[in-house]
Amino acid sequence: MDKQMSADRPKERQVMLICGEYLTPGTLDEAFAAMQRHRGRYRVVAGCTDTLPWAREGRAGDVEIPVLIDVARIPDLRESRVDDHRVWLGAATPIQRFLDDPALGRALRCMPRCAVWFADEQIRAQATIGGNIVNASPAADVTPALIAYDAEVELAKSSGGRILRRRMKLDQFVIGPNRTALEEGELLIAVECDALPGHGGSFEKVGHRRSLVISIVCLATLVKLDAQGRRFEDVRLALGGIGPVPRRLADVETFLRGGPLSAARLEEAAEMPVSLVASRTRQAYRRDVVRGFMLRGLINAARRAGAEAGALPPELEAVYA
Ligand SMILES: Cc1cc2nc3c(=O)[nH]c(=O)nc-3n(C[C@H](O)[C@H](O)[C@H](O)COP(=O)(O)OP(=O)(O)OC[C@H]3O[C@@H](n4cnc5c(N)ncnc54)[C@H](O)[C@@H]3O)c2cc1C
Repeated sequence: MDKQMSADRPKERQVMLICGEYLTPGTLDEAFAAMQRHRGRYRVVAGCTDTLPWAREGRAGDVEIPVLIDVARIPDLRESRVDDHRVWLGAATPIQRFLDDPALGRALRCMPRCAVWFADEQIRAQATIGGNIVNASPAADVTPALIAYDAEVELAKSSGGRILRRRMKLDQFVIGPNRTALEEGELLIAVECDALPGHGGSFEKVGHRRSLVISIVCLATLVKLDAQGRRFEDVRLALGGIGPVPRRLADVETFLRGGPLSAARLEEAAEMPVSLVASRTRQAYRRDVVRGFMLRGLINAARRAGAEAGALPPELEAVYA
C-alpha cells in the first residue's frame, strides 16, 4: 500500500488518508516496539477494509494518522489450527480462509456460509477476523458467527519488556458500536473457539443487497441432533444487526435443547428473540426478518445435521428451507 492513500469522490474534491509512516512489523515484539515508540500517534491496521472507508466517509477534510502499523504480516497472527475440540484463529486470518481451508470449513460449518456472503473475493482476501471484531460494527458478520462457537479472544500488550496476555469471551469483549474492551497498547492476537464438526450450520443474512453490503440482520445457527435425527441435542444461535452488539440467544438454545423438531416448538423458538430487536431504524422489518431467519436457520441447520426424512415439519420446510 502507498504511504499516501486516496480515493476519488464523485463531485467532491479528493479526501485522503495521509500517513507519515506505514510500518509492517514482522514479529509481535517489533509491533509492540513500534506501538511504544509512536505512542499516541499510531493506528493499528490489518486489511484496512474498515479503516479506508472510515477515512473517506462523511469527513470534511483529509484524515491524518502519523503512523499506521500493519499487523497483518505477523506470522503468529496469520496462523490457524484445528484439533478435535478447539480451533485457534490468528487475528489476521483473512475471511477468505474459511472458504479455502477445508479443515476450518469442517470444524466450523457456519463460517464458509458466513464468508460466502461477505463482500467479494478481493475484499475477503484482505479483510481479517480481528478487524471485524475490533471495529465492532453492529452490522459485523463474523463476530456473531464466532460468538455462536463460544469464542474467546486472546489479547496481549507489552509491559516492562514482557508480553502480558489475557483472555475474555468474545461477547464480553464487544461492548457497543465501535467499542471493545481492548486497552491502550493492546493487540488482539487470536480467537479460540469450539470445533463442532458434527453440527449442521447455517448463516442467514440480509442487507440492501446480499453481499458487498453490511448486514441489516444476520443469524448464525448451529444444530446437533440425536442419533435418530429427530430431537435437538445441541443448538447455538447468535444474532447480529438487531442492536448495539451481537447477541447469543441462550434462552432459545435452552428451550430447544432436548426437544423435537416440531412445528410448534420451532415457531415458539422463532418468536422468542423478536423482542430483542433494539436497532434505531426499521424495527418492524427487522422483527419480521428475525422470525423468518430463526425458522430458516433452524430448518437448514437441522437438515445439514442429518434430520431424519419427515422429521422436519413439511409446511415449514416448504416455506423456509
Ligand atoms: C466493499 C466492502 C464490503 C464489506 N462487506 C462486509 C460484509 O459483508 N460483512 C462484514 O462484516 N463486513 C464487511 N465489510 C467490512 C470489513 O471488510 C470487515 O469489518 C473486515 O473484517 C475488517 O477487517 P480489516 O482487517 O480490513 O480491518 P482494518 O480496517 O484493518 O481494522 C479495523 C479496526 O480493527 C483494528 N484492528 C485490526 N486488527 C487488529 C488487531 N489484531 N489488534 C487490535 N486492533 C486491530 C484497527 O485498528 C481498526 O480499528 C466490508 C467492507 C468493504 C469495504
